[in-house]
Amino acid sequence: MSFQNPVFIPGPTNMPEEIRKACDMATIDHRSPVFATILNPCLDNVRKVLKSERAQVFIYPSTGTGGWETALTNTLSPGDTVLAARNGMFSHRWIDMCQRHGLDVQIVETPWGEGLPADRYEEILAADTNHKIKVVLATHNETATGVKSDIAAVRRALDAAGHPALLFVDGVSSIGSMDFRFDEWGVDVAVTGSQKGFMLPAGLAILGFSEKAMAATAQAKLPRTFFDVRDMEKGYAANGFPYTPPVGLMNGLKLASDMLLDEGLENVFARHHRIAEGVRRAASAWGLELCAASPDLYSDTVSAIRTPEGFNATDIVTHAASQYGVAFGVGLGEVAGKVFRIGHLGSLTDVMMLSGLATAEMCMADLGLDITLGSGVAAAQEFYRSNPARAALKAA
Ligand SMILES: *Cc1c(COP(=O)(O)O)cnc(C)c1O
Repeated sequence: MSFQNPVFIPGPTNMPEEIRKACDMATIDHRSPVFATILNPCLDNVRKVLKSERAQVFIYPSTGTGGWETALTNTLSPGDTVLAARNGMFSHRWIDMCQRHGLDVQIVETPWGEGLPADRYEEILAADTNHKIKVVLATHNETATGVKSDIAAVRRALDAAGHPALLFVDGVSSIGSMDFRFDEWGVDVAVTGSQKGFMLPAGLAILGFSEKAMAATAQAKLPRTFFDVRDMEKGYAANGFPYTPPVGLMNGLKLASDMLLDEGLENVFARHHRIAEGVRRAASAWGLELCAASPDLYSDTVSAIRTPEGFNATDIVTHAASQYGVAFGVGLGEVAGKVFRIGHLGSLTDVMMLSGLATAEMCMADLGLDITLGSGVAAAQEFYRSNPARAALKAA
């Protein structure tokens, strides 16, 4: 591993130097008014990043996984029914967490590489006339397969069925990188973490709750203490936490969210799309296919690239680390050994991405795959030259 090279894993992502510095601060008294000057801008900025006017934002010392748990335990009771599709490792893990909490999960098995089946959701919701289903889970961006699902379509499915279930969205690898519309999509709980689109170290779970989700907290019987949003809400009302907050990380979040909003969310999304498109052009030049089944599903934050039958894709990742000091993502679960992943989210420029593509080419050539050095890089270069970055400097 070299600390000079960028990483190309789908989280944790590369940290801009000024964000690292913002996290590294002297001890403050978190009960002093200074903490409010960090907390309140974080809450306001995160709400803007979620594209929400009213969402109640919560920030926990945790990770995305703790955010899942915050969503479930604050709104549900043992035995409640949850509807979820399993189309990759992350949707699988959220389902597993539901089951371990004693929830009854109605699982729609979905091929890995496909998006969330909004049509199936609609049929199931329409058939649930007694409204047993309390929550619908939706993984916006399945990081294991590089598949982006259509959350607006899931909302339409709920509305078409006239079903009152809450809509929970895992936006861990999309929020702050790809378009996310909390209010417009009628999201009830959105979950993310600090180490992906927010370009921070791991350590924060970041959530938005709708009024309807807040109302559900009063009846919810699943045990929770550390993640109880009612305690956190009381803490915020007094400009504090119910316990000691991770001040440095939150100071970093304040800056990171300022940077995203200063660049402009639409510019941030356009930058991710451009960089991702260069990666896709490269994969196509290599003659390799993406795990995502069709272009409408292509993720702008991670590409899972299939390698030829009989070749162990994980070898590329191992070789890149040992030979070139570069990190790519391995295939997980069902697609382990079949794909390697290139993460392209967070603080990234064309030039950084080209170095990652060049490294992937060296690895594939070293390992005997039939790859012409420079072929993928050239395809990405052509794309980047004809679609110049507008906000490249700010992204650095
Ligand atoms: C990374 C990720 C998670 C897990 O987040 P942690 O911060 O590692 O707990 C959950 N869902 C998705 C889609 C992710 O990409």
